[in-house]
Amino acid sequence: MRIMTSILAVTALLCSQVTVAQIQGPMYQVNVSGLPMNCTAYNNQPVAIFFNYRLNNVGIATNHSNGAPIIVLNPNVVGQFSNTVAQWWFAHECAHHNTGPNETKADCYAVQQLVRNGVIRHPEQLLSFSRELATLPGSPMGHLPGPYRAKNIVNCALY
Ligand SMILES: [Zn+2]
Repeated sequence: MRIMTSILAVTALLCSQVTVAQIQGPMYQVNVSGLPMNCTAYNNQPVAIFFNYRLNNVGIATNHSNGAPIIVLNPNVVGQFSNTVAQWWFAHECAHHNTGPNETKADCYAVQQLVRNGVIRHPEQLLSFSRELATLPGSPMGHLPGPYRAKNIVNCALY
C-alpha cells in the first residue's frame, strides 16, 4: 500500500509537471527565432503571450475570460518555418488585435510591421518569404490559398 501510494504520488507529480510544461505564460516579450517580439493591441493594451505545446495550430489571437487580449502560440509549429515566416506568424496573430478577425488584413498588417522594424530589408528576403508562404494551404476560416496569400502580402509590403 505504501508502494502504491508513492507510485500514485510520483504519477501525480509527473502529470502536474506535464501540464505545467505544456502551457507557459503569460509573457509580454518572447523570442521568435532569435528576435525579441512583443505585441500591443489597438487600444495600447499590452498583449499577454502564452505557449501551448498542444495547440493544433501555429497560433491564435483571442481574449482571456477577463477580456484581456492574448496570443497563444505553439513553439513547435512556429519552429517549422524559416525565421522570417515564424516572425511573420507572430506579427499576424498580433495584427488580429489591431485589425480584427479579417485574415487578409492581418497578413498585410503583419508584413508591414516586419518591414517597419527592419526584419525584411531586401527584395530577395521578400521573395524567399513569399515563396515559403505560397506553399501554405488556404482555410475555411478565411485564409487565402498560399499563392494568393503570398501575392497579397508582397503587395502590402511594397506599398
Ligand atoms: Zn489569422
